[in-house]
Amino acid sequence: MDCIFCKIAAGEIPSDTLYHDDEVVAFRDISPQAPVHVLVIPRKHIESLVQLTGDESSPVAHMVDVANQLAREEGVAESGYRLVINCGEQGGQLVPHLHLHLLGGRGLSGELG
Ligand code: AMP
Repeated sequence: MDCIFCKIAAGEIPSDTLYHDDEVVAFRDISPQAPVHVLVIPRKHIESLVQLTGDESSPVAHMVDVANQLAREEGVAESGYRLVINCGEQGGQLVPHLHLHLLGGRGLSGELG
């Protein structure tokens, strides 16, 4: 499958990886929108949030746990941070592999994403 995030998860494309386990991988965004900008992705190829239905086991709770842990490690847990999942074209999703943005290290108030 020609998916850039699948290739990152498989180690076929280099990334600045901060965390990985059997289910998820977290790495720094190549074009950071804030001093801390990390992406957390499931290893499994899921195109977007809209693919998730209630009857499958969702990786999202684990992705949030990992993002919260990384927020602590990156030093933004106290100052505050934002977790964003863009879904679909009008939701601003450019890469069709589910991913959670962790943004922090600057004031984000007033921005929706
Ligand atoms: P989205 O608009 O929600 O689909 O976000 C996709 C994100 O992936 C953007 O913030 C990009 O900067 C980021 N991105 C794309 N390619 C790479 C890459 N090779 N390594 C790290 N981040 C990437």
